[in-house]
Amino acid sequence: MKTLKRKGNGILNREVLVLNQNYQPLLVCTARRAICLIYLGKVELVESYHKVVHSPSVVFPLPSVIKLSRYVNTHNNDIVLSRRNVLKRDQHQCQYCAKRSVPMTLDHILPKERGGSDSWENLVACCQECNRKKGNRRPVEAKMPLIRRPKKPNKIYYIRQFVKREQISWRPYLYMEPLGLD
Ligand SMILES: [Zn+2]
Repeated sequence: MKTLKRKGNGILNREVLVLNQNYQPLLVCTARRAICLIYLGKVELVESYHKVVHSPSVVFPLPSVIKLSRYVNTHNNDIVLSRRNVLKRDQHQCQYCAKRSVPMTLDHILPKERGGSDSWENLVACCQECNRKKGNRRPVEAKMPLIRRPKKPNKIYYIRQFVKREQISWRPYLYMEPLGLD
């Protein structure tokens, strides 16, 4: 589907940090969605990228950080356990041999056939080679120690992974140190 998108829409796919009304970081959405929410009056613009978005009649600053107009009670602060999110947590690095930039799969530390669960603590990014090598064994049996103990990621830590050069303005909202560029 992605390849079918019209040229020039890239800017609208830019990532936007969404804060609760009290500035608590909630999630990341696309600029397209953010503009729509601003238009509907559901959010306020807090920071923008140094770019504008044109429609036939209006010029919008391209949002970078937005804030909900009304406080939302977020009981469910959990990050969804998914292949994509486990790989993201592990920074696409094999948790056995530390290789990056190779085809990745997910490994059950305690194999599923032996009662291992689908959980943040039992799933890690793993290259296909290590996955084959480890087979149906636990790390200690395969003599393949993990490079770090997998944990359930916390939301702010998770959102921080989206921060690149262009997202400098997000840093204070994610309790990251300023870059001292001025
Ligand atoms: Zn590996």
